[in-house]
Amino acid sequence: MEYTLLTKEKQYVCKVCGFNMIGYYPEHCPFCGALNVKFITAEECSKNYEIIETIVNNKVIRLNSSPPLGLEHSAYCIMTGKQTIWIDCPSTFSEDIERMDKIMFTHNHFLGASNLYRSYYSAFLWIHKEDSKQVLAQKYPFDKKFENDYNFSEIEAYHINGHTPGFTFYIFKDLFFICDYVSISGSNMRFNPYGPRDKTIEGAKVMNDILNRHELRKVCGFDYVLEYSNWKAKFDDLLNSVKI
Ligand SMILES: [Zn+2]
Ligand SMILES: [Zn+2]
Repeated sequence: MEYTLLTKEKQYVCKVCGFNMIGYYPEHCPFCGALNVKFITAEECSKNYEIIETIVNNKVIRLNSSPPLGLEHSAYCIMTGKQTIWIDCPSTFSEDIERMDKIMFTHNHFLGASNLYRSYYSAFLWIHKEDSKQVLAQKYPFDKKFENDYNFSEIEAYHINGHTPGFTFYIFKDLFFICDYVSISGSNMRFNPYGPRDKTIEGAKVMNDILNRHELRKVCGFDYVLEYSNWKAKFDDLLNSVKI
């Protein structure tokens, strides 16, 4: 595949979690700790997995590796009118999708094959400065390390800290992108247990104030798309439970 010409370094993908290791082959996966017998090369990954697209609305598509790869997180493709922007990145690289201009990250856990997309499609990678410094992010080439909230091409970015120091959520029109800050099983929502709990709760309160100023319809999470009203009821319960 041609893209191997664009990156001089060998790249491996952990089949247990989907993490991409750029230019090194450790004994254990730095994300999930799996042994390196579980690793495949990025070329093998592109051969054995594809990217499937699921429509969220007329401007937004959900992206997943298929078959599911490791923890299998969703990334999202937003067609803003001016630019095509991804929120987070699939673990699998594919040459068969439409070009994106930028990949903006919620945090440093789901950087996926973004370095390969960056080379192949000349896309720019944006992440909060604090998360660019984290160990898992160190081999990734970022083009912008932002430090403040921003608006770009109708996308609003809000840094809330918490789960990771640079954690940033996004709003595009009536959609809200939150990745894995909270997880949902059945009717239960819980905070991501990784990271300092007090900061995660503090960040959730900041987020709540921002959400209350918006009219939202859907929530795009790392493994779900939900109606906002449904999601927000669970989130309110979660916030109330930590106030006691
Ligand atoms: Zn792993
Ligand atoms: Zn995470």
